[in-house]
Amino acid sequence: MIIFTGAGISADSGISTFRDANGLWEKHDIDQVCNFQTWKQNFDLVHAFYSARRVQLGTVQPNPAHEMIARLQARYGAVIITQNIDDLLERAGCKDVIHVHGFLTEIRCTNTGCNKTWDIGYTAWDSKSQRCGSCLSLRGPKPNVVFFGESAPRYAIMQQLFASLGQEDVLLVMGTSGNVVDIGTVASYVPAQTILSNLETDKGGDVFGPVLDDAHFNHVLHGRAAERAIDIERLVETLLT
Ligand code: NAD
Ligand code: ZN
Repeated sequence: MIIFTGAGISADSGISTFRDANGLWEKHDIDQVCNFQTWKQNFDLVHAFYSARRVQLGTVQPNPAHEMIARLQARYGAVIITQNIDDLLERAGCKDVIHVHGFLTEIRCTNTGCNKTWDIGYTAWDSKSQRCGSCLSLRGPKPNVVFFGESAPRYAIMQQLFASLGQEDVLLVMGTSGNVVDIGTVASYVPAQTILSNLETDKGGDVFGPVLDDAHFNHVLHGRAAERAIDIERLVETLLT
């Protein structure tokens, strides 16, 4: 079993998604705070934005969707792949979560030849005075989050995992619009039983691209992640026993 998740599973914990915000994320233009080409021009703003997200993360809790995913992993050995940068799956007990878009509590030094990566917990990063602990660069440290236009090294393992799905397997997709990773196309070709759960049927494309089509999935259970968690768990039990 593979469980592929997005921002929607953390919405019920109080972390807003891209979609809810209509192209703005916590009132900021995503292009200004999540763009690898321009992030250094917006250096202080980028750090202030992710610092606020990081401090907020320390104040929220996993919800029943994260806990349900942890139970499915414990019971079926599910591989968990997430686009989320938060740590709520880990706090619910999930193990070895593959974060394809990075991890909010980490800073990575982008100074040439350095690449030091370290965890700063739920604290703010003071971009005007804090430096890389290894090369002492002031402008190298970057939130360890994959920005638009930046390479995502874990996509390769993610694609291998999707390609490994067989007829007896289950692919559960929860809380993602499918606009950043085109999971709708993946669901349309894998031989596994596929389940989609989002807030509602995707009504149309937006600035981020194509639509996630319910018709690409064998089973569709829309609604709030925390409320549908039990139904999803029961469905998986039916499919895997
Ligand atoms: P998205 O914002 O594009 O789509 C969110 C999806 O979640 C939508 O399909 C929506 O129907 C669904 N949703 C919203 N509220 C829900 C709820 N209460 N219950 C169930 N589903 C709900 O998110 P995405 O597809 O994950 O892509 C956005 C990118 O943004 C990702 O790459 C991710 O790194 C980043 N992001 C992460 C977080 C986080 O870590 N929590 C939050 C915002 C954005
Ligand atoms: Zn460094």
